[in-house]
Amino acid sequence: MNFYLFYITVFIFGMCIGSFANVCIYRLPLSKSIVTPRSSCVNCGNMIRFYDNIPIISYLILKGHCRYCKVKISFRYPMVEVISGLFALCVVLKFGLSIKALIYFSFIISLIIITYIDIDYQIIPDEISLSGIPIGFIASFGIPDISYLDSLFGILLGGGSLYLVGLIYSLIRGEEGMGGGDVKLLAMIGAFIGWKGVIFTVFTASAAGSLVGIPLMFIRSQNMKLKIPFGPFLAVGAITYLFWGQQIIYLYFQFIRAPYGSTLSF
Ligand SMILES: [Zn+2]
Repeated sequence: MNFYLFYITVFIFGMCIGSFANVCIYRLPLSKSIVTPRSSCVNCGNMIRFYDNIPIISYLILKGHCRYCKVKISFRYPMVEVISGLFALCVVLKFGLSIKALIYFSFIISLIIITYIDIDYQIIPDEISLSGIPIGFIASFGIPDISYLDSLFGILLGGGSLYLVGLIYSLIRGEEGMGGGDVKLLAMIGAFIGWKGVIFTVFTASAAGSLVGIPLMFIRSQNMKLKIPFGPFLAVGAITYLFWGQQIIYLYFQFIRAPYGSTLSF
């Protein structure tokens, strides 16, 4: 197949899955079916025709407004589609056209859905996180570089570590700090990327969370209870590990090894 045509096809495929991700982001928190009925305008209820449901194209043609009532359509819909399309390209470029690429793409799509729902509602739907745990474990048999034991330890470490942090926090502060949703999400992440991925994800998510959270704490007034969802940071950490984890870990050990000379080995 023509080189460009191939990547364009992959991108379009990714955008179509992104279109489905939008349906999940909107319907899962409302406990609506993600299969039926067909999508309709949130404002006027008119069913969206198939030709108005083409990723990006329809949004551009309709200039971001409903065909019937002209209400503004959130920019998030085309954004999720484009992000999904780009990730489809990324996994194929990184892992080739393989089962592994397909598994990791599904994993990333789940994380995108979780991210937006967590931002909107501060919840992580069990439908994705809990069912992702056995799916990730089974998928480990299809990924050569993650053994099923790796996946199993990932689940235990992911779920266990955050559960402990939450428990200690609640004992000290007398309030719940870490949501149960985050515990299940990290267990799911562990199922897909293994125990090393869990450690990497926790470090990256905490660093990114502090980077965003601490300035926000100063900006907001003191009596306002700060509630930043942790799920999106865990998602960012896990996706970073998928693409650059090995390189970042390597650089990190190079960095701490440097002052002692190269004789020190890990
Ligand atoms: Zn409408």
